[in-house]
Amino acid sequence: MERGSIEADDRALLHADCARCAALCCVLPPFAASADFAIDKPAGRACPNLAADDRCGIHAQLAERGFPGCVAFDCFGAGQQLVQVTYRGRDPRAEPGAAEVLDAMRQVSELLWYLSEALTRPAAAPVHPRLTAARNRARALRDAGAAELAALDTGGLRREAGVLLREVSELVRAELPGPRRDRSGADLLGRDLRRADLRAACLRGAYLIGADLRGVDLRGADLLGADLRGADLRGADLRDALFLTRPQVAAARTDGATVLPAGLG
Ligand code: SF4
Repeated sequence: MERGSIEADDRALLHADCARCAALCCVLPPFAASADFAIDKPAGRACPNLAADDRCGIHAQLAERGFPGCVAFDCFGAGQQLVQVTYRGRDPRAEPGAAEVLDAMRQVSELLWYLSEALTRPAAAPVHPRLTAARNRARALRDAGAAELAALDTGGLRREAGVLLREVSELVRAELPGPRRDRSGADLLGRDLRRADLRAACLRGAYLIGADLRGVDLRGADLLGADLRGADLRGADLRDALFLTRPQVAAARTDGATVLPAGLG
């Protein structure tokens, strides 16, 4: 099997499969009332909108009812992994500490998504051995027990992977046309960026909430962790953008003219 096929298999597992879960994301995590959630909810208590059949009772009106965070949320397959593997045969909702285990599993799964994507980039070949080691560790952690996951230093894991993914970003973007501006962590909240040249830009961790990116050329831009809530991406070109995820796309405004990276369309 080719390398690309192997990585595609990894990412194919990293999708929420609610039919194989038990509504864990509606029970285990705490919510704070905010623009994303209309209510406060403590960890381990079922959301009042959760119906007896473990389906969301307001699924068709989530945004209108003040729950856009639920529209954008994606567990990267962590929920079904807890139900089917970590707690096999036991209901995670009845297990102490399961909220922390779900959070750790989600973070590991998200990292696995990024590492798997990085391994598909030919320009990142110089760091493929380190990427492979990090990817294998993340794979093994997905199969770890609840106690190991609960004790996991997720912050340390993310920092380590972040260094590696930055190297990947630099290697990949160095081969692409564009000014390759570094706007990492920039506060671009609500900005009109329609005239900005963001080809191969580094926008990791940038605050793009409500930014106007209509028709912008974002090919090859690094969007790792960029906050795209309410960003207007109608007609924007994001092909080959690095480290873009489904939750980021779901939180933004897109249309049929938005060009997304393969696998996110
Ligand atoms: S509003 Fe619906 S999707 Fe969101 S947590 Fe509650 S039941 Fe789940």
